[in-house]
Amino acid sequence: MLLPADYHMHTPLCHHATGEPEEYAKHALEIGLTEIGFSDHEPMPQDNFDNWRMNADKLDEYVANVRKVRKDFPQLTIRLALEVDYLPGYEDWIRGLAARYPWDYFIGSVHYVSDSWAIDDPQKLSEWNHRDAGEVWTVYLERLTKAAETGLFEIIGHADLPKKFGHRPPKDFAPHYKKFLAAAKKHDCAIELNKDCREIYPSREILQLAFQTGVPITFGSDAHAPEEVGMNFAEAIRLAHDVGYRECRRFVQRQKQTATF
Ligand SMILES: [Zn+2]
Ligand SMILES: [Zn+2]
Repeated sequence: MLLPADYHMHTPLCHHATGEPEEYAKHALEIGLTEIGFSDHEPMPQDNFDNWRMNADKLDEYVANVRKVRKDFPQLTIRLALEVDYLPGYEDWIRGLAARYPWDYFIGSVHYVSDSWAIDDPQKLSEWNHRDAGEVWTVYLERLTKAAETGLFEIIGHADLPKKFGHRPPKDFAPHYKKFLAAAKKHDCAIELNKDCREIYPSREILQLAFQTGVPITFGSDAHAPEEVGMNFAEAIRLAHDVGYRECRRFVQRQKQTATF
């Protein structure tokens, strides 16, 4: 069985990942991957937007780094990508980034439910105490749906991130997911299986709905260290097979391809 590509990994340019891209590639080969994609956090118009993404003047260096590993590891297919925060109002900024390099894909991720709060930021964990979890989930899914509708992204990242610190979705939340998945289907946008915490994103329930809706998938470890590349892939593959998936998406300069796994 061919392992699916690991399409979600970071580099030290985002200030919270360790290990050089070469080490990520080396680990990928060691565990039998044939394709990976670097998808570091994109720069924002203001470098002080937060402290967990690359500065705008580092984008050239990021691309050069990925191109270098590509050259040094010809036996591995290496994609050039970004994990792009989706916040309403930043669409033109994202289009500008898209025009600058021959990216293979953009992962559109929602981390922010307001202009200043990223729900997965461990430094802002206490913010959850001042919020209604149900409301956070609702705003999150609204933004996720919008992200899919923009057509700016090939993949939507970790579709149920608010569960990261144990906040479960409210009861009867399925209609929100259905709306998001319908948008993903309509705009031919994939969702990723990502295990960045105790549980895989998305949950089996959402993945089942995604399969029924016909939404394609990708796999991503969200590695922030070389040894995390391909992490929990066996578990993610089992889950995807269980709900019926046999195919996943690949991207070459933003063109879609299909792979079996
Ligand atoms: Zn993310
Ligand atoms: Zn990530």
